[in-house]
Amino acid sequence: MAVEKICCTCCKSKSIADFYKTTTTKDGYYRRCKSCHAVSVKEWQEKNKGKHLENCRKWQKENPDKQRIALKTWRDRNKERYRNNEYEWRAKNSISIYARNNKRTNLQKQATPKWADPDKIALVYAEARKLNLTSGIKWHVDHVIPLVGKTVSGLHVAENLRIVTASVNLRKSNTFNL
Ligand SMILES: [Zn+2]
Repeated sequence: MAVEKICCTCCKSKSIADFYKTTTTKDGYYRRCKSCHAVSVKEWQEKNKGKHLENCRKWQKENPDKQRIALKTWRDRNKERYRNNEYEWRAKNSISIYARNNKRTNLQKQATPKWADPDKIALVYAEARKLNLTSGIKWHVDHVIPLVGKTVSGLHVAENLRIVTASVNLRKSNTFNL
């Protein structure tokens, strides 16, 4: 078996590994090299794009049942893929969202003194909810002195709460690394 072979298209002598195998030639390899093969396949596809589409449409028209099955198979396969992705995304995110909420709840519990007035606190949150519904922008309830500050830690009491726009709050939590 020859180790080198001359490509019929580019006329270069190339290693036999640069030729695709086939049963149609004596030596078991195509007459043109892999790169010439790729070029000609691409050229053919470009030239026959319209024809290929036309063939597809014709086939679809003549085989409506097969076309329906093919479509359904494609949809099922993709639905499953999307569903799996979504599940994965939710599973991943619900854990982190849960952890974050949990951390915040624990923090608030620890920072709530006995004398805190739960009704007053609830009122601030209700006010923020009302703003969210009526103003068209997002509002957060913010701790004036953060519950975990660098030097001092604030309390979860109405006196330490204020309502700020979400963008202000998010910028602030970056600074405090909460
Ligand atoms: Zn070649």
